[in-house]
Amino acid sequence: MSSKDWLEKDFYAVLGVGKSASADEIKKAYRKLARENHPDHNPGNTDAEERFKAASEAYDVLSDDKKRKEYDEMRSLFGSGAFRRGARAGGGAQFDPSDLFGGFSGAGAGGGAGDRRFGGAGFSDIFSSIFSGGGAGGGPRRGPQRGRDVEAEVTLDFAHAVQGTTLPLTLRSPGVCDVCHGNGAKPGTVPRTCPQCHGSGLISRNQGSFSFSEPCRECQGAGSIVEQKCPECRGTGGVTKNRTINVRFPAGVADGQRIRLSGRGEPGERGGPAGDLYVQVRVRPDDLFGRVGDDITMTVPITFAEAVLGTDLRVPTLDGSVTLRVPPGTPSGRKLRARGKGVQRRDGQTGDLLVTVEVQVPTGVSDEARDALERFAKLTPNAERGRIDARLRRG
Ligand SMILES: [Zn+2]
Ligand SMILES: [Zn+2]
Repeated sequence: MSSKDWLEKDFYAVLGVGKSASADEIKKAYRKLARENHPDHNPGNTDAEERFKAASEAYDVLSDDKKRKEYDEMRSLFGSGAFRRGARAGGGAQFDPSDLFGGFSGAGAGGGAGDRRFGGAGFSDIFSSIFSGGGAGGGPRRGPQRGRDVEAEVTLDFAHAVQGTTLPLTLRSPGVCDVCHGNGAKPGTVPRTCPQCHGSGLISRNQGSFSFSEPCRECQGAGSIVEQKCPECRGTGGVTKNRTINVRFPAGVADGQRIRLSGRGEPGERGGPAGDLYVQVRVRPDDLFGRVGDDITMTVPITFAEAVLGTDLRVPTLDGSVTLRVPPGTPSGRKLRARGKGVQRRDGQTGDLLVTVEVQVPTGVSDEARDALERFAKLTPNAERGRIDARLRRG
């Protein structure tokens, strides 16, 4: 989460609690929202999903005393207009809130960030280190943090989507180094506590009436110093990992559907829970079959004679074939239904196979067939056409 998010988002409003709400009130408010908007209870409801995420984000900050304090301080600092009154900085420059936003959004008016310095560090550097803990140098250590959600897209064959399938999905994501277990130190050595900040990762600085914390230079905010780096991760504690997980796609999954796999996203940090994996499903269209909800559709050609006389029609299904009775006198375009031959969901709900018959008109016929057809035409006056002709004569 960026500092700008913190400036813009009112986490108290998101949870519907007052600024002075107790930890208990915050927890209750969060649990209620999480229950009401949980994706499992609101499948496909993106509004609920957004509310769920917003509540989690707000709770993540407000449930952590340290984070909540920083958030409150930042919002009151900015809201009070302290910067607008022209707090004097080390170099004598005046700060303007627009500089702050410029630094965050990357749309700053004229790249002033570099020369507006605050105690030697770029202003946005200080801000990001104070407020997000996610500065480039690795912010100060904090409590458990939930892993990030991961998005993936998978294209399924038509039949797989209808019948359900399990596919391996390979994800590349940052993970904890297995060799050093994330502390960045060569096996057999341990990082030592930073003598400068005594392990907190933060150094306090006083500037006029403000007191700021900034990441310790000695340890880059880590709180500890690695003397001999782990050869696997070169001291970063993290490596890029390929993870292969088997994703189960339920029977009847549809194009555009999003499947959520709880806890299959990126691993959490410092004991935090893993994020979620969201798989966006695409379904490859099929030459023969189409789909409307749980019904499978197809169009089958029949001859004129079959339409008139009726026939038993053998049509393919995804897993075999089925015989349908075409009754005598079936018009082109009629839909025949094979019950239960559509999508068969695990919950017992089943769709049908809907077969649309299309009467074919032959383009070339033998002389004998033509004679027969002419005889047929004489014997079967077109009653329908006769009715239309009668109306035309009346009009
Ligand atoms: Zn390592
Ligand atoms: Zn330090």
